[in-house]
Amino acid sequence: MSIVSLRTKLIAIITVILIAGFAATNILNYQVSKGALRTTILENELPLSSNNVYSAIQADLLRPIFISSLMANDTFVHEWVHDGELKPERMVRYLDKIRSRYDAFTSFFISSKTLRYYHYEDSSRILSETNLEDRWFFEARDMKDPYVVNVDFNHQQERNITIFINYRVIDNDGEFLGVTGVGLGLGSVSKLVKTYQEEFRRNVYFVDQAGLIQVHADPEIAGKTTLYDVLGMRDIADKVLANGRGSYAYDGVDGKVLLTTRYIPELKWHLFIELPESQALADMKRGFIRNMLIGPAVIALTILLIIYTINIFQGRLEQMAITDKLTGLSNRQHFDLSLTQAIKRFRRDERPFSLLMMDIDNFKLINDQLGHLAGDKAIRHAAKVIRDQSRDSDLLCRWGGEEFVILATECNAPDAQRLGDSIREAFRDAKFFPDTPDKKITLSVGISQVRKNDDEESVVARADRALYAAKDNGRDCTKTA
Ligand code: GH3
Ligand code: MG
Ligand code: MG
Repeated sequence: MSIVSLRTKLIAIITVILIAGFAATNILNYQVSKGALRTTILENELPLSSNNVYSAIQADLLRPIFISSLMANDTFVHEWVHDGELKPERMVRYLDKIRSRYDAFTSFFISSKTLRYYHYEDSSRILSETNLEDRWFFEARDMKDPYVVNVDFNHQQERNITIFINYRVIDNDGEFLGVTGVGLGLGSVSKLVKTYQEEFRRNVYFVDQAGLIQVHADPEIAGKTTLYDVLGMRDIADKVLANGRGSYAYDGVDGKVLLTTRYIPELKWHLFIELPESQALADMKRGFIRNMLIGPAVIALTILLIIYTINIFQGRLEQMAITDKLTGLSNRQHFDLSLTQAIKRFRRDERPFSLLMMDIDNFKLINDQLGHLAGDKAIRHAAKVIRDQSRDSDLLCRWGGEEFVILATECNAPDAQRLGDSIREAFRDAKFFPDTPDKKITLSVGISQVRKNDDEESVVARADRALYAAKDNGRDCTKTA
């Protein structure tokens, strides 16, 4: 297999592994998170919201209960009743003062003796035991608890919940004198519900014990719709209303809805907080899609980096494969390839090239006298001298040992002779051994110009012969064959 197709295959495999690994992780992650999300919402998030709303309700109730208790224990109220409820306007004034001081919606007192309804504005109405609207008073009269909370939901008033505290007034002798109290809006509850609705897109509403939705963001639903009218909800409504608190999932009109409920004894209502699952999943889906977009970009960058790195190393390897380590010249392998190409080219265009075969004279002596390391240095230096004298188009090669060969393109034998002589000249001037500058190295050169019918072997053999002739001729000379 060629290096190129091996590289393509390697990159393809890495790409597939990266993409498959990334996609599998992302999809698996999404599935696992999706499963965990429902549990988290049902078991943690929604109950937490419900606790917060309940705490707000309890906090909101503290103030009106405190004010009503203050009124129920006020000696003015006790004495005024015992004195025969004279001057009703005094009670009206007292109630008005309480109302404005505590910023209440209303304030009232009902006398048990006269059944007169004193209100912060007037005192004309008398309650009747037969009137259904007045039943709350008689219930409060007969109950054991000191007070009861009644809820009124005013749809016109910005969806505000108003609560009425009916506080029993008992004098020092334990005699029941009547019921007093205030009506106040559940301000912070409304605010909290709104926040949940708008910021967290949770649906918060209150349902009475009969299943009627009393408080809801949608005025078309509040006071008009029961749980039994809602698709999916109607199947679990009985169970939900029977339980004090619980978590449910039902199939609504737009898919699965996650719901937690909690009974609020103070209001005698169930608090419902629900979240459509699609809403909860939307954020996660966005994350999933974002990952799916970013991932391939990262993978593409990684692959590019890998290709770049492989190319650099491959280039280096290829360079190393054709380079002689000691001198940095081309090696024999490279020379062989180049010679084959040069012969082919010569057969086409008949433009001659020449070979210059060079061998350092008496190199054994150098090794013997100065050691092999100095010999290596001399070979490196010789390569540099040869390179300096050659043209860029010449291929310089270390043939082996202390032998070099030049493949000189567009060069005939006389040109090659001149080149050989100039190299030998340069050897004469070169300082091979810094410690012994007078010690010189000489070179014998054999030249062959390519001929018709030459092949690789024959042209090299001629240069070799010429080199031997130069050696025979006493060395440090150039011969052509
Ligand atoms: P001649 O003039 O006939 O070429 O004499 P010579 O001593 O140079 O003989 P020859 O070319 O036959 O021997 C080459 C010697 O060069 C043999 C070997 O000890 C030495 N030699 C070959 N390659 C290396 C090398 O890489 N490093 C070193 N230091 N010496 C080498
Ligand atoms: Mg030799
Ligand atoms: Mg030699």
